[in-house]
Amino acid sequence: ALLSRLQNLTGNIQVFCRVRPLLSRDPRVSHNVPLAVDVLSITDVAALELKTESVFDDNTANTAPWKMFTFDRVLGQHDSQLDVFREVEPIAQAVVDGFKACIFAYGQTGSGKTYTMEGTPDQPGLNQRLLAHLYDSLAMRGVVVNDAAGQATFTSPPSNHETMYQVNLGVFEIYNENIRDLLEPDNPNLQIHTDGDTGEVCLPQLAMEAAYSPQHALGLLAQAQKHRATCRTNVHDRSSRSHCVVVINVKSTTGLRGTLYLVDLAGSERVKVSGVDGDALKETAAINKSLSALGDVMEALDKKSAHIPYRNSKLTYALQDVLGGAQSKTVMILNVAPGFSTASETFRSMQFAERVR
Ligand code: ADP
Ligand code: MG
Repeated sequence: ALLSRLQNLTGNIQVFCRVRPLLSRDPRVSHNVPLAVDVLSITDVAALELKTESVFDDNTANTAPWKMFTFDRVLGQHDSQLDVFREVEPIAQAVVDGFKACIFAYGQTGSGKTYTMEGTPDQPGLNQRLLAHLYDSLAMRGVVVNDAAGQATFTSPPSNHETMYQVNLGVFEIYNENIRDLLEPDNPNLQIHTDGDTGEVCLPQLAMEAAYSPQHALGLLAQAQKHRATCRTNVHDRSSRSHCVVVINVKSTTGLRGTLYLVDLAGSERVKVSGVDGDALKETAAINKSLSALGDVMEALDKKSAHIPYRNSKLTYALQDVLGGAQSKTVMILNVAPGFSTASETFRSMQFAERVR
């Protein structure tokens, strides 16, 4: 089954949809009209239906009561964190094999992006599960360098020729088209560099810390979150107004290089522009710019366009190699809430997904 899922992931870009359960704090119109989003229980056509009257008030724009959207995979309220992990498990495998891969969580604020990526202490999300899986897979193949002393011997392989692996981790946030290092907060404005010879894109100033174990890696992620929180503005919850990118590099003494990017995107919701100015307006403009640039790039890749407009935002520029790499893999997880009150944003998210797949 794992093999078939791996084959399913061979397309460069996959789009999944995850519908979170209705929470007690969600407004609920009536108990007879439960949800605006319905996951169809068809396994070979992953699809969900959105009740269109919840989107179009006048009912003239659309005559069908439901609109169906299909995805590579749809996960509903009964799918656990583990179920979601199982769907992207082949990604961790690909990284161990030396490929680049990227997982995005896209959706409006409150739709479950952070729950999907970070999770909660009781219900850990993809970051933690993928890291654990990564170290497990590496340990089966060789020695994971697990302390500072081991790190020193990494450059000269041990005499028994056992393969040694090293994992390095970095975290950055993109806020108002500015890239900030979250492990090294003294690096508030990272530059993106394109290698003149190879054309490879990198962030040379990004602090990449050696991560000796899953626990150590999680400690680094917690540290990054702390740095992120200290910079929260009073006006807005900054965590929903910025993109957060975790970069995990795997390298081996055999020359293998794999990279995994885990991205918790800024909330995709429309923000009322009337009445806001200054910082709020700047934030909104930056988010709109980078999310639409992401859509443009994914659409251009899907259509195999001659020109892929990576440079239209810091997000797409920084992720250029993994988005466009011939052998790299990207999974976009579209997070949506099931309620009526969020249906028009859900509809916009669906339209975004339709564009990129
Ligand atoms: P976002 O990061 O998109 O703004 P969150 O991940 O913070 O949204 O989710 C909003 C709330 O919904 C949180 O309290 C979170 O714990 C809860 N939640 C999200 N997805 C699920 C899920 N699949 N199951 C249970 N609770 C969820
Ligand atoms: Mg969040």
